[in-house]
Amino acid sequence: MLRIGLAMLQGARHEHIEALIHASEEVGIEIEIVELRKSSQLDSDICALILPGGESTAMRKASKSESLLDGIFDWMDKFPNRPVLGTCAGAILLSDPGEQRQPYISAQISRNAWGRQRQSFEAQLEIELDTPESNPTKELELQRDNFNHKPLKISHDAAIGNLDSYPGVFIRAPRFLTNSVKCTTVATLQDEVVGILDGMKLALTFHPELTLDRRFHRWLIVEAKNNFS
Ligand code: GLN
Repeated sequence: MLRIGLAMLQGARHEHIEALIHASEEVGIEIEIVELRKSSQLDSDICALILPGGESTAMRKASKSESLLDGIFDWMDKFPNRPVLGTCAGAILLSDPGEQRQPYISAQISRNAWGRQRQSFEAQLEIELDTPESNPTKELELQRDNFNHKPLKISHDAAIGNLDSYPGVFIRAPRFLTNSVKCTTVATLQDEVVGILDGMKLALTFHPELTLDRRFHRWLIVEAKNNFS
């Protein structure tokens, strides 16, 4: 069973759990989701990781007591070929892991660069990443979590197979600095780069877990399997 770690720091964690459960069903690969709360959980059995969105400053602070972020970065240093998905604040942490650590992605990022919370928006994106197909064997329901949250039903053609466009949800999102991206672009909003792949680190400035198109979560699971077996 593939063990996928999810940093339970703050922010959109429960939606990522739901997205992972759906993606695992869509690709027919069994997974165990490990809700990471302290660094001691980061063992060599974790074969992929998600850094969710939220508020990166709050995440850095929240991680202090159990050194979770340090544990996560140590794990990434130890296993550079294991896939990591960083969304929004997660992408910020990959670009700027803090003092004394080298960035995990070759791109600089500017926080809150689309404006304030009110300027959050949705837009159609173009995706250029080879992602595994979805072949679910059963109808998947959206569940409520312990807090009675339920992912938004943001879907459109992409969820039913139009692989050329993707519903991008940007919430007080960061922006990659122009000309700073030195790795593969995988998502664009018109001319703007909004998703990149550097080795096995996938950094998106939007929130794929808030849509019904699970292709990035499928990517994570399948890459984890390829790397681990
Ligand atoms: N504005 C947040 C930050 O700077 C990121 C927002 C998000 O993850 N949706 O960390």
